[in-house]
Amino acid sequence: MSNADFQPVSGLDLPRFAGVPTFMRLPFISRDNALFSEVNIGLVGIPWDGGTTNRPGARHGPRQVRDSSTMIRAQHPVSLVKPFELVNCADLGDVSPNPADLEDTLNRVTQYYKGLATSGITPLSVGGDHLVSLPVLRGISAAEPFAMIHFDAHTDLYAGYFGKTKYTHGTPFRCAIEEGLLDPKKVVQIGIRGTMYSTEDLEWGRERGVTIITMDEARERGHQNVMQQAREIVGDTPTYASFDIDFIDPAFAPGTGTPEIGGVDSWTAQQYVRQLGGLNLVGADMVEVSPPFDQSGNTAWVGASIMFELLCVLAQSASVR
Ligand code: MN
Ligand code: MN
Repeated sequence: MSNADFQPVSGLDLPRFAGVPTFMRLPFISRDNALFSEVNIGLVGIPWDGGTTNRPGARHGPRQVRDSSTMIRAQHPVSLVKPFELVNCADLGDVSPNPADLEDTLNRVTQYYKGLATSGITPLSVGGDHLVSLPVLRGISAAEPFAMIHFDAHTDLYAGYFGKTKYTHGTPFRCAIEEGLLDPKKVVQIGIRGTMYSTEDLEWGRERGVTIITMDEARERGHQNVMQQAREIVGDTPTYASFDIDFIDPAFAPGTGTPEIGGVDSWTAQQYVRQLGGLNLVGADMVEVSPPFDQSGNTAWVGASIMFELLCVLAQSASVR
């Protein structure tokens, strides 16, 4: 059921380097557009890095990823999924943050995503730093907590910063578990690595039932084995997918605030995301692309390509709802 109102501009009609950049060249549909109510999957930018504790710049991620994403074509090369024919996809624009006020920004993003949930729109979001996942989860939350599959070098289950600041890009999933937005027994974190302050975050998560798979373990077991376990853990529970670009090795995606060596290559990252196919996905995000640290522009391209992988599995889920 291909809907003509929701098709991307084809590179055969206008070259992919031309025109106004939107996510994957989809139509930009604002909330006051009559077509808004027909959107199934909304691609949304959250240009905000107010939760960053080290190198900033992820606020510039959505614009750069939009530009890179104009190189994406319409069909997946392996699954052969055509997401723009399966469901109605659109670029909904950016959520406006308040760059000088963290709490106000969290509220703004939460309210925005409540609106999407009310309209039945499944979100595919682009950060921004990883704290943006918290207000997204608050906004789309349902009666029962979600499961989550989380790709990252870091658990983002840390306690507050400097002993008092609760909200940073290292704390969103600790907050989400404490708030009952996520069921810790159905949270799977893959790719954890890098030097640590302590093991407190790992212990906190594991005590509550979070499955934390380090990159060393993931490489030992292989992506198919790891994702088979992840799929069994989440089952048919409504599941959120969160992809921090630092899951991938900085050789492939250097433009991010807290890179860690020993990550996967971009091909392996694709394999992980593809194995989300068939799950009951309620939303996804791709975060932490920081263009000021992305000298070649390749990180934004890797991020846009991961977005397309996420979009294809989201479209499969949304088309059977
Ligand atoms: Mn993260
Ligand atoms: Mn990270």
